[in-house]
Amino acid sequence: MRHLQRWVSRTALEEGWSRQPRSRPAPTGCRVAVVGAGAAGVAAAVTLAAHGHEVVLLDREAEPGGVARGTIPPERLPDEILRRELEDALLASGGIERRRFELSTSNSLDSLLAEDFDAVLLAMGLTRSVALEAAVRPEGVYGALEFLRCVKHGGQRVQGAVAVLGGGNTAIDAALSALRAGAADVYVVYRRSFTEMPAWPEERDAAVRAGVHFLVLTQPLDYVSDGDGRLTGLRVVRTRLAEPDASGRRRPVPIAGTEHVLPCEVAVEAIGQSVDETVRQALAGVKFTEKGTIWTRPGTLMTSRERVWAAGDIVNGGATVVEAVAEGMRAAREIHAALAPAQAATGPGGRSGG
Ligand SMILES: Cc1cc2nc3c(=O)[nH]c(=O)nc-3n(C[C@H](O)[C@H](O)[C@H](O)COP(=O)(O)OP(=O)(O)OC[C@H]3O[C@@H](n4cnc5c(N)ncnc54)[C@H](O)[C@@H]3O)c2cc1C
Repeated sequence: MRHLQRWVSRTALEEGWSRQPRSRPAPTGCRVAVVGAGAAGVAAAVTLAAHGHEVVLLDREAEPGGVARGTIPPERLPDEILRRELEDALLASGGIERRRFELSTSNSLDSLLAEDFDAVLLAMGLTRSVALEAAVRPEGVYGALEFLRCVKHGGQRVQGAVAVLGGGNTAIDAALSALRAGAADVYVVYRRSFTEMPAWPEERDAAVRAGVHFLVLTQPLDYVSDGDGRLTGLRVVRTRLAEPDASGRRRPVPIAGTEHVLPCEVAVEAIGQSVDETVRQALAGVKFTEKGTIWTRPGTLMTSRERVWAAGDIVNGGATVVEAVAEGMRAAREIHAALAPAQAATGPGGRSGG
């Protein structure tokens, strides 16, 4: 699948498919706000514009691209290719207005809906790294997203040993980035075994070959710091696997008497991502699932709030770029279908009826 994606992407760039100007249908007179210019938001904006809607693409960052641009290491997704793909897609669509905007309690969903938008699509991704429930949080502890951004864009260097908490692809990216950033030793600390590890096997194997150490069946418990509040170690306990839990994976059980400290100067938490609390508070009337993602009506991407849809990681809990693009396009088609009666009432060409 990955090779197929790469081939399509490279051929599209080389042959200029994405730069072909798209035909512009008559304006529908409907305005749609898309919040979040990541994979889902850009795909939705382009699809909505292709249907003739006026689209405003809002993001707190100056450049589009979301996690793919800001966080995924350039060794896996070269910046130049991503930038060209995004620019081509947005330029070929023409007429998509881009605006710097941060959804927050002072710039809430209510204020957007009051701003004469016929529909709003929420595509803000999962921007907060879940933190270890630790008694202390010394200097030297980072969320994975923050760490990857600092290494990618801030040229952050690290020294000494780095502990990466978690066993997913984000943990592997963080471990490899730490090695490239100068770490002497990098330990991926994961509480289950290789069998349950969510990281793709080829990514994990590449990390092993690069020299990353894997401490499986080892559960992080807490941080240890020096008198100046700097991280000096990660307290861990060995585990054994019991019967499967609700996730279907075998449950890790701490083994009494095996607690010890893994000395490290930096710790990177890659144990999950969630919706930012300020974003939640800005979304009055939007229902969330128990997992903390936005709830959508069965079989659709429409939220519990009228005129509001959602797509991408913020709905699916974190998947892939391709899935975010597919959901963005699907949400755009649902919005277009929902706006059809409004267009019929105003007639093609504008709100005034043309
Ligand atoms: C480390 C890492 C590596 C990954 N590697 C891969 C990979 O190799 N292949 C793959 O297919 N997938 C990978 N993924 C997953 C993939 O990146 C995501 O599934 C995809 O980017 C989700 O797109 P999205 O549009 O839903 O969200 P995002 O890409 O997160 O975009 C959300 C956008 O919303 C904006 N935003 C957030 N909050 C606000 C706010 N309050 N106000 C305004 N704007 C806001 C952000 O600035 C961002 O531009 C990886 C993810 C991570 C974390």
